Amino acid sequence: MSYKNFTVETDADGLALVTWDMPEKSMNVFTMEVMDELDAIIDQVVADAAIKGVVFTSGKSSFSGGADLTMLKAMFTMIEEEKVKDPANATKKLFDAAGRMTWLYRKLETCGKPWVAAINGTCMGGATELSMACHARVASNSKSVKIGLPEVKVGIFPGAGGTQRLPRLINTQDALQIMTTGSDLSASRAKALGLVSEVVEPENLVAAAKELLKKGVDAVQPWDKKGFKAPGGAIWSPNGIQLFSAANAILRRETNMNYPGALAILKCVYEGLQVPIDTGLRIEQRYFTHVLSTTQAFSMIRSLFVSMQELGKGARRPAGIAPTKFKKVGIVGAGFMGAGIAYVTAKAGIPVVLIDRDQAAADKGKSYSEDLVKAGISKGKTTKEQGEALLNLITATPDYSALEGADLVIEAVFEDRGIKKTVTEQIEAVIPETTIFASNTSTLPITGLAENSKRPNQFIGVHFFSPVDKMMLVEVILGEKTEDKAIAVALDYVAAIKKTPIVVNDTRGFYVNRCVFRYMNESYDMLQEGVPAIMIENAAKFAGMPVGPLALNDEVAIDLSYKILKAQIADLGEHTVEKHHMAIVDKMVNELGRLGRKNQKGFYDYPPKPAKKSLWPGLKDLFPQKKAEEVDFEELKQRFLVTIALEAARTMEEGIVTDPREADVGSILGFGFAPWTGGAISYIDGMGVKAFVALAEALAAKYGAHFKPTPLLLDMAAKGETFYGRFDPYRVANAA
Ligand code: NAD
Repeated sequence: MSYKNFTVETDADGLALVTWDMPEKSMNVFTMEVMDELDAIIDQVVADAAIKGVVFTSGKSSFSGGADLTMLKAMFTMIEEEKVKDPANATKKLFDAAGRMTWLYRKLETCGKPWVAAINGTCMGGATELSMACHARVASNSKSVKIGLPEVKVGIFPGAGGTQRLPRLINTQDALQIMTTGSDLSASRAKALGLVSEVVEPENLVAAAKELLKKGVDAVQPWDKKGFKAPGGAIWSPNGIQLFSAANAILRRETNMNYPGALAILKCVYEGLQVPIDTGLRIEQRYFTHVLSTTQAFSMIRSLFVSMQELGKGARRPAGIAPTKFKKVGIVGAGFMGAGIAYVTAKAGIPVVLIDRDQAAADKGKSYSEDLVKAGISKGKTTKEQGEALLNLITATPDYSALEGADLVIEAVFEDRGIKKTVTEQIEAVIPETTIFASNTSTLPITGLAENSKRPNQFIGVHFFSPVDKMMLVEVILGEKTEDKAIAVALDYVAAIKKTPIVVNDTRGFYVNRCVFRYMNESYDMLQEGVPAIMIENAAKFAGMPVGPLALNDEVAIDLSYKILKAQIADLGEHTVEKHHMAIVDKMVNELGRLGRKNQKGFYDYPPKPAKKSLWPGLKDLFPQKKAEEVDFEELKQRFLVTIALEAARTMEEGIVTDPREADVGSILGFGFAPWTGGAISYIDGMGVKAFVALAEALAAKYGAHFKPTPLLLDMAAKGETFYGRFDPYRVANAA
């Protein structure tokens, strides 16, 4: 029998080697077709008396990335359509779809013949679940082997038997930890936990799996035998009771109960371990159906998986421009940001010229990469040779002529129009006409800076976030005259350094900082109202923000907030800044000398390590405090999310951000906007524009005009529209 995605070869010993190798795909993923073929292969194995056992492996360098989540997205669309026609049938269809993999894997493990998974590389999600349905697992000791169940990161959970088999194979506590964090295991860690039975040299992988079968692998899973006991003990045992009380508390602390997928993992394991596996699988299928039908899962899959991939692959890249293969990238300004940009560029294998005012300053910039490389070697993340190769790619010099031949130059000098003008002229004196010029400015509009350039059509903003090596987002900002070639080169560069770009039109603060300032301003308002600082910080975290607004302000530096407000007053007038916002930062900076983490005192105090930071007690004296019971905590949470979402909506209304995918992904990657919502725009679409408008109006009545819904929102509410409908990112593709 022949298959499109698999080959099946049976040797003289009766061992069938099933190799998964999807044509025209760089990685194997589960599609409907793959599942149908696997179903047929199981039938073939059962029917062919010559086959005694099966080794299941991959023909690619990785094992498999798991389910094709775009398939899930298509399923969501089908269900949405069905809901309109026949809601009861929609749920039934979702339930059946949610169980397709589950019962296919169950069929595999009960087919009567032993299967061994030979894991040769990355093995994720549905693939890890398939390997657990096999009767044994062998992994290669290659560094590329990563075994994981990352579903929780996109709002769902391992729903193809993962929650049932993992705690039947390994300790319940480890199983819960792996699934609720979505973290990967190396081959050796998987062996130590008992998830794989052998770790071998890559070239011996299939032979070792066959050897195992020859020695005898039981075709009946331990959990299908009488008297089976889970390795972590029963739920109703002292261990189990201790574990689940702690697990509940940890889940609450880590997720603030915003993630139905994470909660469902605990429920599936808790309930599933008390019953036979078939019942456990049905329990899991029900929870999976429920989680799949939540707004959170829909929005998280859309933003964190589908949109992020689409943007990373150049969804916004202008067509018809040849891709750039970077021979050299110049970075001028080797300070905090320039040094980080040099590191990520060299890490991508691109030669970098790193320029500053003198050799010592340029060298200091390079020393940042030297430190990161050293740390990487000591943690075993990189080898000495790789580290040296990376550092050899960075030439630190004060000599501008070294920029000659660069495909792209990024300027990251002081945030000062005059200095930026001089530096632009110095750079343009040496670069060829074809070089694209990018500025990393965070506050100065690109159109204005482009006036310093002889070639404003090749001038663009490439706005990184700090710390550059950790932050995955880059805002690409278009000046009025920026042309397609500059956009294409900037996007090729962002793709080369493996970050996610959003393309934004020029405006003060661009997209991310506009939203971030709303977040911090709301906390100033709350302080002013007398809300205890600890409630402000906790409400933000309970709403799903990773860092409270006061802590964030300390990281950004309060004197920077002060400078930005001053610049805004100078450029746009006194009336554009709330007086009490200015009063708070002015007092903190100029009267109290509290600048943030950088001088160990801001809204928090930063004692020497190992002591932890704590909120500055003096805040209580600055603002008369309300009692906790006088504060509506739920409303604090809403205020943070609504004020940011309103700003995101304004940027779309003004045409600053044109694609809702970018507003969503930008808000999550740029400042961690509550990921459970799928992003600032999905937050609005998720509750419905009408409900959002009502909420904003209620908040405006109590807390001021900045909560007033904009004309666009009012119009959309009246028409029953969504952002993803009105600004349909696929309309061009759909129309074609
Ligand atoms: P920084 O002060 O750490 O570094 C600036 C560097 O520019 C210094 O090393 C300085 O010696 C160098 N420089 C100044 N004049 C120069 C000249 N004429 N020629 C060559 N080098 C010169 O500042 P930073 O925080 O790295 O910020 C740099 C830029 O990045 C600014 O435009 C800033 O707005 C932007 N930015 C900063 C952040 C942030 O979090 N700090 C985030 C995004 C963007």
